[in-house]
Amino acid sequence: MGSIDVYARVRPLLQRELHEEAPRVVQTTDGVVAVQVETDGTLRERRFRFGRVFGEATTQAQVFTACALPLVDAVMNGASACCLSYGQTGTGKTHTMLGAMDGLIPRCMGALFERVDGARVSYVEIHNERVADLLSDRTSLDIRDDCGVVGAEVVDVSSLDEVLDVLRLGAERRAIASTDLNERSSRSHTIFSVEVNGATLRLADLAGSEKWRTEELRDYSKHRIKELTSINQSLSALANVVSALKDGRPHVPYRASKLTRLLRDAFCGGRCAFVATLSPSSLCADETISTLHFARRAMRVRTFACEVAPEITSGNNPRRVRELEAALQSARA
Ligand code: ADP
Ligand code: MG
Repeated sequence: MGSIDVYARVRPLLQRELHEEAPRVVQTTDGVVAVQVETDGTLRERRFRFGRVFGEATTQAQVFTACALPLVDAVMNGASACCLSYGQTGTGKTHTMLGAMDGLIPRCMGALFERVDGARVSYVEIHNERVADLLSDRTSLDIRDDCGVVGAEVVDVSSLDEVLDVLRLGAERRAIASTDLNERSSRSHTIFSVEVNGATLRLADLAGSEKWRTEELRDYSKHRIKELTSINQSLSALANVVSALKDGRPHVPYRASKLTRLLRDAFCGGRCAFVATLSPSSLCADETISTLHFARRAMRVRTFACEVAPEITSGNNPRRVRELEAALQSARA
């Protein structure tokens, strides 16, 4: 049995928000995010409780120690794990995952290298339900049922410097692939994977979760609408997986999107962390509430082992198969 650990992280107000003199409507206290919302002219406070809440003064190191270090330990013990940053565009997903190379990805790798000499990493982007490699020019890659990406470049790394090179290469490729990097990054998921000891840790910087307004849609091109629809589909697929796990339903719809297919092994009895990123500004209040609803839904979800897929059984990873079978047995017991 695994779990999803949910964290909320509120960033400081940005210059832009300070300029607009938009008030701060989010307060954090021990384990609680409180949001002031105005409905019909009355101000109300809505409170959301989480295992851990990171206020704006929280450092990258503190977020790492709380959210991601347990995942590194899980992977060292042979379980799969994933960490997702989820939230509206501009709330700190990339800052949390990557930052100025001081985010969760480099820190996880640093922690791994204290325990092992080498690991294998890959870096992909999911855009419009297509998986593109960020470390080669390959696009439209398939996802195997054991969650590997077919044809994605896998790089052997044995030092943090080598990891940073990989991350920079990925960032360059994304920049080449897009005319507007910020816009692209709000519409695609990037997933960094590290394989060590036969288990995989995936760190995903998700597409912006914001809803678009129907009046905006009218002005959008076909391409843009397709893009928005596919983001919506994959984030809904993620929400549906979380709901199915939460309700203990026997069928968990992993296959509904590339994102959930890729994260399936972590959800199947592995350990997952969600970091819900939030702006404290009144300008973002509606999206803040909807991110908090999603995060609350994911809380206290227990992940359970999946049926062993035939692809895995016939594969050449007997250790993983034995582990899955053992996990299955204990889940049934
Ligand atoms: P997202 O990836 O969710 O669109 P970013 O990570 O790009 O958002 O963050 C938007 C801006 O806010 C960036 O300029 C980033 O440096 C800043 N920012 C985000 N989170 C924090 C934080 N916790 N502390 C300081 N600055 C932050
Ligand atoms: Mg981003």
